[in-house]
Amino acid sequence: MNYVQCDYCKKWFPKKPSAVRRSKNDFCSHKCHDLFQQKKNVFVIKEDYAELHITTKREEKPIVILIDKEDVEKINFTKWSLKYDKTVDNYYVYAWERNNYKNRKRIILHRFLVNCPNNLQVDHVNRDTKDNRKSNLKIVSQQENANNKGVYKNNRLGHRNIRKLGGRSKQYILEIKRNKKIVFKKYSRDLQELIQLRDKFLEAEKNGTQIKEQKEEYIQLKLDITE
Ligand SMILES: [Zn+2]
Repeated sequence: MNYVQCDYCKKWFPKKPSAVRRSKNDFCSHKCHDLFQQKKNVFVIKEDYAELHITTKREEKPIVILIDKEDVEKINFTKWSLKYDKTVDNYYVYAWERNNYKNRKRIILHRFLVNCPNNLQVDHVNRDTKDNRKSNLKIVSQQENANNKGVYKNNRLGHRNIRKLGGRSKQYILEIKRNKKIVFKKYSRDLQELIQLRDKFLEAEKNGTQIKEQKEEYIQLKLDITE
């Protein structure tokens, strides 16, 4: 039997195939592996917030994650990693659950910080998934979250809900969907007009009292298109 030294507790232990062996280090137990890993979190404490620096193979420099100062201790029980989400072209932070070693689940940092129930989602108010200060995290329903999703990377125009028509057309189209149904649609050659119209719609939607008025305008627009 081969004996190796645990890189965390320094105990010598017989190395079996079932022993925890990840990366170049040897550990006598899962617990030692976790404790070793949690030392790898890099926190930078600022005056009124804290930064968690995480390295990833995708980027040269570490990615800076913002959190509240008081959450540093809460999250420093495990090593946090980054996952790239191509739909929002940004990173989110995750870790693997401890204790239940046979069937580990992924812990998502922003959900963990606000103790989000399973049936709800967490919305990043400023749309930056790297900002996980609680002031930027809001528990919402799935629909509310979808409404606040940022510009998709593949939307070359860079304006949410607006795209250019294909081919030789010089027209743009503004299309707002709710529950997979189009609730607002307008074609125009004037991009600025569509941007203003979209903002007006979203503003009205946010402000319940104005939505009736907006609906009338929508009906008006619909008529414009069909005429
Ligand atoms: Zn050990």
